[in-house]
Amino acid sequence: MPMPTVLLIEDDAEGRKRIGQLFARHEWNVLEADDGAQGMEIAFAQKPEAIICDLLLPKLSGLQVCRALREKLTSTKIIITAGRHYDVDRSVILDAGGDDYFVKPLKWEKLEKALKRKRRPARKLTPRQSRALKFQPPSTRLKFWGVRGSIPVPGPSTIRYGGNTTCVEVRTDSEIIILDAGSGIRELGLALEKEFDGAPINLTLLLTHTHWDHIQGLPFFLPAYKAKNSLRVLGFEGARAGLATILAAQMEVPFFPISWRDLPGTIKIRELKRMKFSIGKVKVHARFLNHPGICAGYRLFTKEGSIAFLPDNEPFEPLKLKLAARDGTHPHRARAQAAVARSKLVDFLKEADVLILDTQYTDEKYQEHVGWGHGALSRVVSLALEARVKKLFLFHHDPTHDDHKIDEMLERARLLVLESGRPLEVEAAREGAEVWLSGKVPKR
Ligand SMILES: [Zn+2]
Ligand SMILES: [Zn+2]
Repeated sequence: MPMPTVLLIEDDAEGRKRIGQLFARHEWNVLEADDGAQGMEIAFAQKPEAIICDLLLPKLSGLQVCRALREKLTSTKIIITAGRHYDVDRSVILDAGGDDYFVKPLKWEKLEKALKRKRRPARKLTPRQSRALKFQPPSTRLKFWGVRGSIPVPGPSTIRYGGNTTCVEVRTDSEIIILDAGSGIRELGLALEKEFDGAPINLTLLLTHTHWDHIQGLPFFLPAYKAKNSLRVLGFEGARAGLATILAAQMEVPFFPISWRDLPGTIKIRELKRMKFSIGKVKVHARFLNHPGICAGYRLFTKEGSIAFLPDNEPFEPLKLKLAARDGTHPHRARAQAAVARSKLVDFLKEADVLILDTQYTDEKYQEHVGWGHGALSRVVSLALEARVKKLFLFHHDPTHDDHKIDEMLERARLLVLESGRPLEVEAAREGAEVWLSGKVPKR
């Protein structure tokens, strides 16, 4: 009997390798694709016996891929995998034509059973049902447009995680909320104009602080150049001047040819004064972080979960100890002060569904950069564990870290989680990656 073939559609190379080995050990031919489009191409050409497809793929989601495959491949087993479990996912996956839904890591015994089971006949749907089942993106999702700290670093060594500086887009409750305006905002602006196709865009730009890597993309943000659009810019006051003055300053002659005043879009800058406010129906809590100057972290409460965004933040204890050594404070006292500050931050982050947190340095590199205002890997992981966060994104990657280095840091972070024995999903933020929130939210 010829060997059966499985196609793995999975963007995480490590994960793909692991699943591939599992199948290869049981005498399957293994084909691989790292995104949905490539996966569909291979699937239609090779017609494998089974397809294992990740739910949260970049560009095309696992559901979109599943639906498209099912239309043409009626006898292929399609199994969707995910790094998390939500009951709602299972029924959506079955409706999309998937045969099964497994949470990673995959166990061969379970897989084998699913592969042997007869395919259930496709449900006959009324036209109305099939319309209702057409792909609908979840109402809360976020997308990374820039994940880098300090300065953009495009080039072959940063191609997978991306070279643009901080910018994250959140869509929820019919709001477009942009977190920070690093160089990644340029691509986002182009995408928004394409999506809205001439219709007015209303959006809110929420700034954590005005360090250059968080505002440098703003002069290149296309929606600001169209009179039809309205931009609301929110942030706390910068270091010495008001927010409006600082944002205008980077566009002054001789730095830039077009002045802030001359931008045709309706742009309103509002300096935040309170630590709790709302953007439409989205409640936002703010907290000042351990970073030079005024730098806020935000937590957005959407109806499908909460997102905490702390792109620049340093652990408290090493900095307190360094200062204590300088001014003669007893280390005990410095440690106690740091512990109080940390526990307040843990409260702020408690049970966040998604935490995007400054992890610029490895632990070793951080030792040389205490006081620079950025995170260190193992302290980032322990903070997320203590706050019982569901999903952690390592963020604000150091400009000297290439893709390989970030892979290593991610691996180290996952090892630390494994050692802790507690549940926490960890990813390294990657330009272009999307995260969907569709879990049930505890009442607040
Ligand atoms: Zn920064
Ligand atoms: Zn900064």
